[in-house]
Amino acid sequence: MRLDRFLGNLPQLNRADARLLLARGQVQVDGQVVRDGRHDVREFSRIQLGDEVLQAGKPARYFMLNKPAGVVSATEHPEHRTVLDLLDEPEKHDLHIGGRLDLNTTGLLLITNDGLWSRRLTEPRSRLGKVYRVQTEQPITPEYIEVFAQGLYFAYEDLTTLPAELEITGSHSALLTLHEGRYHQIKRMFGHFQNKVIGLHRERMGPLLLDPDLAPGQYRALSPDEISRV
Ligand code: URA
Repeated sequence: MRLDRFLGNLPQLNRADARLLLARGQVQVDGQVVRDGRHDVREFSRIQLGDEVLQAGKPARYFMLNKPAGVVSATEHPEHRTVLDLLDEPEKHDLHIGGRLDLNTTGLLLITNDGLWSRRLTEPRSRLGKVYRVQTEQPITPEYIEVFAQGLYFAYEDLTTLPAELEITGSHSALLTLHEGRYHQIKRMFGHFQNKVIGLHRERMGPLLLDPDLAPGQYRALSPDEISRV
């Protein structure tokens, strides 16, 4: 929300007061004087009028989890444990998942209370590469590379998948980079060749790499540098 709107919405101020206070340099956001009413403020911003705190600003929280198999990428589930059950954090109801994984998929999962940030990671327009390690029941042949690069038609959604890069790393293993996230996408792509995916692990989402020190089920807060890369 714009800062002038935030100020004008306060019961003790109207829009003219807000303009005057801004012009006089009496408004601070996160410790800095802001005179421009168009400045964007969020629920995480600390907003002060002189010494008076108008909004304390709640902490923005960002975590990476090494998701184990058998845990659901959801905030609630009637039967299974959810990834939030693995977090020892307060106010978990405030957190959401940026880019889900299937029940048996393992690896990098990002969890945050910052919706703008997670949208940048997951929105189709951003086309960030997500890298998966794939293990299959049948051998993977070089033919797959071209087919995945061309895109596969998914009749149910009536769409063709975006070009994906496949690097074959062994007779039954590969690294696959996707730039979107369709329902069971990788399993369906390998399904085109009647090849069952028996292991799927996400290593990377755009600029964020799963910390190799995190064992399955472990998590840590992102560093300021990691947060700012997205
Ligand atoms: N594709 C899948 O099939 N499953 C996942 O969890 C992620 C991508």
